[in-house]
Amino acid sequence: MKVLMLLLLVGSALAGTDQGVRDEFNGEAVDFFMGKDKMAAMLEMTPSPHCLEGDMEMSEEQKEVYSMMQEVTAENSARVRRYSSNAFRQWPDKTLVYQFDSSLSDEIKALFMAAVDEFTERTCIKFVEAKDGYTGDIRPIKVWGDGNGCSSTIGGPGGNLKLPDLCNSYGTILHELGHAIGALHEQSRSDRGDHVTINEENILPGYAHDFRVADRPLLAPYDLHSIMHYASTAYSKDGVSETIVPHVAKKSETMGLQKGLSRLDIYTFNLMYDCYEGCPEDLKDKCQHGGVPSKECTCICPEEYKGPYCEIFNAETACSVKLNATSGVIQSPGYPARYPIDTECVYAIECPVGMTVHLDFKDFDVEGYGCFFDFLETKTGGIIDEMYPDKYCDVALKGVNIQSKTNLALMKFKTDSRFNYMGFDVEYRCE
Ligand SMILES: [Zn+2]
Repeated sequence: MKVLMLLLLVGSALAGTDQGVRDEFNGEAVDFFMGKDKMAAMLEMTPSPHCLEGDMEMSEEQKEVYSMMQEVTAENSARVRRYSSNAFRQWPDKTLVYQFDSSLSDEIKALFMAAVDEFTERTCIKFVEAKDGYTGDIRPIKVWGDGNGCSSTIGGPGGNLKLPDLCNSYGTILHELGHAIGALHEQSRSDRGDHVTINEENILPGYAHDFRVADRPLLAPYDLHSIMHYASTAYSKDGVSETIVPHVAKKSETMGLQKGLSRLDIYTFNLMYDCYEGCPEDLKDKCQHGGVPSKECTCICPEEYKGPYCEIFNAETACSVKLNATSGVIQSPGYPARYPIDTECVYAIECPVGMTVHLDFKDFDVEGYGCFFDFLETKTGGIIDEMYPDKYCDVALKGVNIQSKTNLALMKFKTDSRFNYMGFDVEYRCE
């Protein structure tokens, strides 16, 4: 039955109706389509003679400054920063003005408007369409439906955003709009070496220059799940060998496959455009459990927490639990008997600050099938940068030890309406 369902899903996707399928499955099908998303992420890298790193259109002056940013030294660093803030500008009045060219398809226009809505909801950046007869002061960016690949100029005012029909992925359009607003690629940050390794021997010959670091002020922590991050197989010589290898190997399944603004994206764009002007200065420190300041001066929380400062554990089900003891055992409901169907349990292990959580999986037996039906998700990284958890099923965690990066580890166990297995038995301790 499940195999049949998978086939039906694949069939629907091939028929071009996968958006409907996604909606129908309330987002759960998303991981199943990761392969498609990886394809979409590659679209940002369609080579174009005017573009750097695949999709950044720059003027000759910007190109010159950008190459200085790539070769910055201790001596010229201050000067290059000055040049770059002149060459790459924010939109005046925090307002991006766009103008649709008649070449743009209705489908792309709808995705673009959805991306605009997401930025409008989450940041203080305003978006105005320059319709016929526009007489405003701000030069619009032209949104084109033709071009070889998806690309954008960096910052404003004016410029070009090229979204031909092949760019019909929401994540890709968010990414290009991010460039239009003024963002560069996440993986070109000077601190990327702490989070990813560039595997040069896997890069398509002639494209190594697209993996250079470009110096600029770093506003927020590094974010593997940023809409501005490349996927692990960007410019891969064979399409499958990894060119960007996250230090937490599991993250290559989700890195660069953005489906929405990450919390750190929201934070970064809001800092970039001074959206926190009216908020208390210590707001950032008040946000708990991986939350980031919102433009409304409260915090944007991970789903496991709520409240103005993400201080309240947010899980409704009876099997969900917040654990504050420095050691203990977590078992799937009923263990060692088979776990129940249609169950969702959220576990939050909060160690004292300064300690980390050690998870020691003594037993792990969960339905397989690509983790599509029953699974255990873990968040053991920085939480603040974890938009997509690590997902496990089958016997993947049996005998495995995981150490969290911070004093917080989150897990979610979810089962569907059929086929139940023994579940899991994990010992945890704070160290
Ligand atoms: Zn890009």
